[in-house]
Amino acid sequence: MTLEPGTPCRRCKQNAAIYISRKEPFCKECFVRFLRGKQRKQMADYKVCYDPATSSPQIPPRILLALSLSESSLSLFEMLVSLLHEQRKMHRGNSGFELFAVHVDQSEVYPYPTGVDPKSVLESMRQAYNETCTTVCTPVGDFFADTRSLRHFQHDVSDIADYSFVKDLTLDGTVTVSDVLSNIRDRTSKLDILQTIRESLVLEAAKKLQCTSIVWGDTMSRLAEKTLSLTAKGRGSVIPYILSDGFRNGIYNLYPLREVLRAEAEEYVRMLNISQYVTKPSIKPPNVLRMMTIDDLLGNYFADVEKGFPSIVSTVVRTAAKLTDQVAYASDNCAICGLPCDDTSPERWLQDITVNQSAPSHDAHDEQDKVAPSKDEEKSVICYGCLVATKGVTFPWISTMRYSKEETLDEYELH
Ligand SMILES: [Zn+2]
Ligand SMILES: [Zn+2]
Repeated sequence: MTLEPGTPCRRCKQNAAIYISRKEPFCKECFVRFLRGKQRKQMADYKVCYDPATSSPQIPPRILLALSLSESSLSLFEMLVSLLHEQRKMHRGNSGFELFAVHVDQSEVYPYPTGVDPKSVLESMRQAYNETCTTVCTPVGDFFADTRSLRHFQHDVSDIADYSFVKDLTLDGTVTVSDVLSNIRDRTSKLDILQTIRESLVLEAAKKLQCTSIVWGDTMSRLAEKTLSLTAKGRGSVIPYILSDGFRNGIYNLYPLREVLRAEAEEYVRMLNISQYVTKPSIKPPNVLRMMTIDDLLGNYFADVEKGFPSIVSTVVRTAAKLTDQVAYASDNCAICGLPCDDTSPERWLQDITVNQSAPSHDAHDEQDKVAPSKDEEKSVICYGCLVATKGVTFPWISTMRYSKEETLDEYELH
């Protein structure tokens, strides 16, 4: 559908329309209000609250925005800033939340385009929005900063269920993320592990800054991509846990743009002239289809689909939201990605479904080794998605139970 010159905006019926979304012509003001309305609906709880006894405003919760500096996260950033401004104006300087934003600098792994430095972008944002937001830049290498639980992860190439975390004294704490990723050949798995690292750093930042919520800039299009890609990567069981709004590791996670299409977020950034802050690492998907990751393929698919059939995108996301969360109360967390694993151990399940008759290495000697792991070896649970992503790979990892419920509780007691 193309926009004929002179078409009026269907909402205010006064201004000329400048953009068509979901077959409706919008003027700038109405489009901006339309998208902000979608975000505000998801964040209705973050309003200014007054103590009923004293009528004084309550201390607002701290929320952390995971600011990837993509169009989506920047549009959410702008919406949150505008909401804060409005709240302060209406409530004599008070607001319903305090805003922090963290950007994970991935230049160690995937350089930003020449001349682009995320730190200086954040600095110029800090100057422009100083009063409304605190921005933090975390290098991706910080994942290995705390070496107390650094282990060597070894995963057998021929037996997917054969893995271990070994204490390795040669690991002296100078582990880099690019070293770790260079051990993984498959691009899908590489980006999968990188995503685990990024999300873990955002979570750490939230804990450090004492934020009670994390807001993610994922649009409806991105959530639909994630739904299908998690399924394809063998991570289907965590879809409702990851993609619904809710508590994870003691922190509330929410997706305020879950009803916004990616193209709409991109248009929002253009209309409000904040494109200068868009900063993306140059992770170019290869042209060869065979080399593309699952995420590349699904990204291309939904970019096409949302143009003509946005309802398909929302159907995928709504269907995902209806799935029952089977893992939220699971007793174990995966030692790689930190996500809960249900009680049926993926290894046992794999062994049950795999026919092993052609595996000569499974003699009595090997079995004995497995029953009695050596002293400096730890047996931890790994989820099916991580088993697939790390098959035959060996790398240093900040291992195991740092997300265990006990530790989460301990950390909360310390604050
Ligand atoms: Zn209008
Ligand atoms: Zn995992």
